[in-house]
Amino acid sequence: MGNIADMDPVDETLSPEQRERIRGLLMRAAEQAREREGELGVHEPSWCGDVVDQTEAATELQLQAMLTESERRSIERIEHAMRRLDDGSYGRCEHCQQPIDPRRLDVAPWATTCVGCP
Ligand SMILES: [Zn+2]
Repeated sequence: MGNIADMDPVDETLSPEQRERIRGLLMRAAEQAREREGELGVHEPSWCGDVVDQTEAATELQLQAMLTESERRSIERIEHAMRRLDDGSYGRCEHCQQPIDPRRLDVAPWATTCVGCP
């Protein structure tokens, strides 16, 4: 007779309700990031005017590129967390396999590493 209690899945830390809640949080966060990215994309700096204006426009473009890049990265991170939610590894650090502090996940549901890992 084997002990069936030992056969419980590893992801017992997350109930289906919690999982759904986190999925909702992640989806909303991804949506917001996409919206921000879209908003940044529509602002066309004007290239007419004197040299000063053009320099400002160039700086603005650079800034936008940086922001868009960071939005894209945060979307990637969110999607990555969602995949981990699907395969059951969510809530565990990718590096040391230790459970991630739930308080950290509350603030940053897309976190896939614990506080001690980069
Ligand atoms: Zn870790």
